[in-house]
Amino acid sequence: MKTLYRVGFEEIHKLWTDISYRPAFNFIYRISSTGVPVFATTGSLPEHLLGTLPELTSTVWKTIRMPSNRKEFIYEVRRVPLASSLTNAIVNYWQEVSKSYKDQDRCLVFCRTLNDARSLGNALGVPCYHRECLDTTPVDKWRAGENKILPTTLKLGCGFHYQHVRDVIHMEISYSMMDQYQEDSRGGRDGLPCRVITFCSEGFKKPTCGDYDLGEVALYEWSFESKRCLRISPSNFLDNSPISCSLVSFASFCANCNFQLFNPPPHLPLTFPASSVPMPPLSTTSLSSRFTPIKADGKILKAKPIMALKRSVQEDMNPSRKRLRTDMYVFLYTPGI
Ligand SMILES: [Zn+2]
Repeated sequence: MKTLYRVGFEEIHKLWTDISYRPAFNFIYRISSTGVPVFATTGSLPEHLLGTLPELTSTVWKTIRMPSNRKEFIYEVRRVPLASSLTNAIVNYWQEVSKSYKDQDRCLVFCRTLNDARSLGNALGVPCYHRECLDTTPVDKWRAGENKILPTTLKLGCGFHYQHVRDVIHMEISYSMMDQYQEDSRGGRDGLPCRVITFCSEGFKKPTCGDYDLGEVALYEWSFESKRCLRISPSNFLDNSPISCSLVSFASFCANCNFQLFNPPPHLPLTFPASSVPMPPLSTTSLSSRFTPIKADGKILKAKPIMALKRSVQEDMNPSRKRLRTDMYVFLYTPGI
């Protein structure tokens, strides 16, 4: 007789988002009757839901969870005006980006509804894959390279593996933050960069939360973030620890971070905080004259005033402190010292 030592569940987050994901999930509410330790794995279950797992299943779980940050993702949100077609926006994007595709490269488009997947498939002239497909022929053709783009639904959003997905496109945001992240995770599994672009129509209605907060509203609000790093809100919701592109080692920068990177900093006038501490008496000689030029390798270091800083201080400073400006110098060092 064989002994059952423990029971494991993969993709435990589906308990909240799609209970019919696997037939075994029907058994999960009675899992304590096995009398053996149970464990679960997930890549996207947020901590606030993790705490509800024992009360839902009447047993204590060991959970193995990976943080959600993936350095390969290049996040971007593109808002499509009401007067324009979301389908056309995706078709135009695909026509542009597909030119750079190598033989093994592929693109997945996640749609919220079966009809969306069908209409996009028709516009692109490729088959689509969804719950009503009788077999996996559309996926097999896509893997074989007959078509390099595949419109699909949530059905392919979890547990699907193909290494060289270079673009994950969302036709509107997904149903929850967990679903969106699961769909993102189909991309870049070879460790190379993958563009994760969410096309959002302006007329999309704000969703509401059910009994459990699955991140529906957080995801909707994230899609409007144009200045903040696009990694912050998802990592805050999923990992309870906000992370930006600059904090993930070797991460590809999101569109918002890239924009900030190449955008000049905003003009902020230089001001000094008011202080109740009296100013120390200033020397009658300037700072530069109090420094003796240092000889190094036979070259004399020269002190030069910072002209830009001098002007800013002159404009912004209290008149009684204007003398300070004459003491601001930068020392230019000769190379090799
Ligand atoms: Zn970023």
